[in-house]
Amino acid sequence: MTTYKEFHARSLKDRDAFWTEEAKRIDWHKPFAKVLDYSRPPFAKWFVGGETNLCHNAVDRHLAPRGEQKALVWISTEVDQEQSFTYRQLHAEVNRVAAMMQALGVGRGDRVIIYMPNMPEAVFAILACARIGAIHSVVFGGFAAASLAARIDDAKPSLMVTADGGSRMGKVVPYKPLVDESIRLSKFPPAKVLILKRGLDPSMPSVPERDVDWATLAKQHEGAKVPCAWLESSEPSYILYTSGTTGKPKGVQRDVGGHAVAMAASMQHIYCGGPGESIFTTSDIGWAVGHSYIIYGPLIAGMTTIIYEGVPVRPDAGVWWKIVQDHKVAVMFSAPTAIRVLKKHDIAWLKKYDLSTLKHLFLAGEPLDEPTHAWISQGLGKPVIDHYWQTETGWPVLTSAPGVEKTPIKFGSPSFPAYGYDLKLLRESDATVAGPDEKAVVVVEPPLPPGCMSTLWGDDERFVKTYFSMFPGKLLYATFDWGIRDKDGYYFILGRTDDVINVAGHRLGTREIEEAVNMHPGIAECAVVGVADQLKGQMPMAFAVLKDPAQVATPEGRMKMEGEVMQTVNQQLGAIGRPGRVFFVTLLPKTRSGKVLRRSIAALAEGRDPGDLTTIEDPGALQQIKDCLGVK
Ligand code: ATP
Ligand code: MG
Repeated sequence: MTTYKEFHARSLKDRDAFWTEEAKRIDWHKPFAKVLDYSRPPFAKWFVGGETNLCHNAVDRHLAPRGEQKALVWISTEVDQEQSFTYRQLHAEVNRVAAMMQALGVGRGDRVIIYMPNMPEAVFAILACARIGAIHSVVFGGFAAASLAARIDDAKPSLMVTADGGSRMGKVVPYKPLVDESIRLSKFPPAKVLILKRGLDPSMPSVPERDVDWATLAKQHEGAKVPCAWLESSEPSYILYTSGTTGKPKGVQRDVGGHAVAMAASMQHIYCGGPGESIFTTSDIGWAVGHSYIIYGPLIAGMTTIIYEGVPVRPDAGVWWKIVQDHKVAVMFSAPTAIRVLKKHDIAWLKKYDLSTLKHLFLAGEPLDEPTHAWISQGLGKPVIDHYWQTETGWPVLTSAPGVEKTPIKFGSPSFPAYGYDLKLLRESDATVAGPDEKAVVVVEPPLPPGCMSTLWGDDERFVKTYFSMFPGKLLYATFDWGIRDKDGYYFILGRTDDVINVAGHRLGTREIEEAVNMHPGIAECAVVGVADQLKGQMPMAFAVLKDPAQVATPEGRMKMEGEVMQTVNQQLGAIGRPGRVFFVTLLPKTRSGKVLRRSIAALAEGRDPGDLTTIEDPGALQQIKDCLGVK
């Protein structure tokens, strides 16, 4: 039995041997000649000279051992449909879509934008790209036309794949008008647009010559066979834009071989998901979590992956747990924001279904506050593993790795650095190593491990400038997150470096104050921002969502609750972190991936322009903030 500590140490000390071993988890058409080429730092090339294919590893190689096993289950509570595909059926569908793409002129290295809701055809399209060596760029369905146009112009695609529409909370969200508008706005529009008609938007207009009907083309390619293109390990597999919480999204580029190995290794060591088991990742395919843990990771591991179109509380707050029961889910992956939504509902929903197959629930995307972590762990009676990662890394940076060792979980902590990451907490001022319990910047000593971004699409210079230039003269990957390590070696993420609040010379992470606010039992979730203050430099200001909004229906109720929350912060953190004001809202402004837009809130509070809001989920949330602050 190795301990996790030994495992992690070996991944850094014996890097080549470690990753050579992990690389055996996937099929190679041609073996690699060298594990790592790091001759041009910070650019890391993994498994140099090796040839492989992601679609082969995710689909074809499972045909013999488990062709009749379910590969993909689609559940939509939006349109009330369910569909499953065995590995053999998935193989046939992917081959057909690959042939359709080739017929539309798509070849190796060409870019394909996929702008679709969570549905099986989106997965087919993604895997079809991988099969023929085309580079997919999935854009979260529902992004506004301007955001889509910006991504089109960055990728210069030859094809765009879309659907007539999506659905959210039972309401149709038409995609086609956005697609048409984005193409009108873009400088490098795709020659062809492949459209899946779900029957959600019967009035959808069509552009002759450019628009191609999915069903018609699919009929022509029934039974098609398209061989996998063998790609050199470092060739690009896909582009994916970051969520855009802090500004202009960055086009993260991933490789082929490193990505495949990283996925396979993480399924084993972190998620503990194996052939024949089911995994339910509640994310959208448009995010990194969806790419890695709805599609590539689970399928490479031979699992049954569940793709879900819908929200966690429709038809009721038990819908996800019913899925776990009905599909014998072993591994589940969701986000803190979803759990905080569930927290507003009766805890009895967590107990209603048989969850005996579930091994653990993983959460990522935002800090997981201690009360929410405790609530969901106790409610489910299962280990709930907070883990921390970024679109850039594609898989966890901080995590517990129960596949190696079941280390105890501390609420509020994403545990330890993942194998392969030489993680450091460095003082922002001089890049020296911070001590235990000292707040500092989370950085990775390069090379970044396999599976992490290889560069920013078309912009090597921006890659180096954005990520490796925080400390002059030192080549270190900056996460731009602020963290702390306790005496037992557990890490805590305290927020983004640009969200740090400076109160009378004390530097506080937004997370620390939010954590204290959340300790009040009436609070469902909150956002804390720093606002310029003449006396103290900055003053924390809190915006909180209550489990029961009726409590603040009257001015007296509001005052009482504000006082109570301040008192809670006093007790938890001390007066230094006490917010100057606590406002109550019913909704926080978040990105479409569920992250709080603290920067925009702070800007409004300081009377500044809230900045680029194209990624906002619901503009109504910002209006509530404005109303609280009395700004127009
Ligand atoms: P952009 O970089 O464009 O502003 P983004 O950072 O929101 O967008 P993502 O890559 O989706 O885009 O998010 C990664 C970030 O999410 C991390 O850097 C961190 O701030 C936050 N995060 C993710 N997981 C956790 C976690 N478990 N605990 C705390 N924070 C987390
Ligand atoms: Mg980021």
